[in-house]
Amino acid sequence: MSGFRGKEIVDAHVHLWDNEKFFYPWPTADLHAICRPFHVSDLQEALEPSPVRKIVFIQVNQTYEETGYLEDRGLTYDLLIRTRHFKLAETVVKKFPKLKFVIDHAAKPEIAEGKIDEWKRGMKMLAQNPNVYCKISGLVTEASRENWKVDDLIPYVEHVIAVFGADRCMFGSDWPVCTLAKDASYKNTFKAYLQCVSHLSQSEKEAVFCENVVKFYGLERKSEKINFK
Ligand SMILES: [Zn+2]
Repeated sequence: MSGFRGKEIVDAHVHLWDNEKFFYPWPTADLHAICRPFHVSDLQEALEPSPVRKIVFIQVNQTYEETGYLEDRGLTYDLLIRTRHFKLAETVVKKFPKLKFVIDHAAKPEIAEGKIDEWKRGMKMLAQNPNVYCKISGLVTEASRENWKVDDLIPYVEHVIAVFGADRCMFGSDWPVCTLAKDASYKNTFKAYLQCVSHLSQSEKEAVFCENVVKFYGLERKSEKINFK
C-alpha cells in the first residue's frame, strides 16, 4: 500500500494522553470518542492496518510530567494558529529566523465553511519565510465531520504544497483527534492524505511522508521517536 521504496513513513503529529492520571482541560467530556486515555498500546493497534510505524508525539497540554518527557527535543516550535493569527505569526517567525517553526494542521482552514481565500493569502505570506514548515494534518476534522471526503481536502493540501514546496511539508495524522470525523480511523486518515498528494512525484511524496519530519525534529538523534519494530 505504501509504495515508499522501503523508506519509513513517520507521522509528524500523534497524541497520547492519560486523563485518568493527569488533568487536561481538553478533550472535554462531550467529545465522547476521544475523552478517554490513549496509551501506546492503543496507538499500536490503530497503526497496525496502516504502513506507518513511527510517530512524533505532540503534547496536548503542557503538564510538567509531559514537559519532562520532551525536555530535550531541540529547537523547533509547533505553531498552533488559525487564520486570524497570521499577522502575529509572521512577526514571530521573522523575529527568530534561526528557529524552525512548523504550522500545525495547516493553520486549521475552515473547510466545512468553504472558506479559503484569506487562508491562502496568509499561508503564502508565512511560506515566504524559509524557517517555516507546515504539517499536512488535522484537516479531516476541519471539514464536515459527518460528510467529509478527500475532495474537500485537496484544494487546501495542494495550496500548502504549492507555497511551501514538498521540502517543507510533512504528513501528520492527528490521531486520535482525527477519529472525531466519521470513518476517520488511522488507516483511512492516512489514505486520505496520501490521495491528496497524488499529483506529487515519488521523491516528493517521500519527502512529505518520510524525510522532512525526521530532518525537522532531528529524529536521528532524539529519543522521543517511538519505534514499534
Ligand atoms: Zn494535535
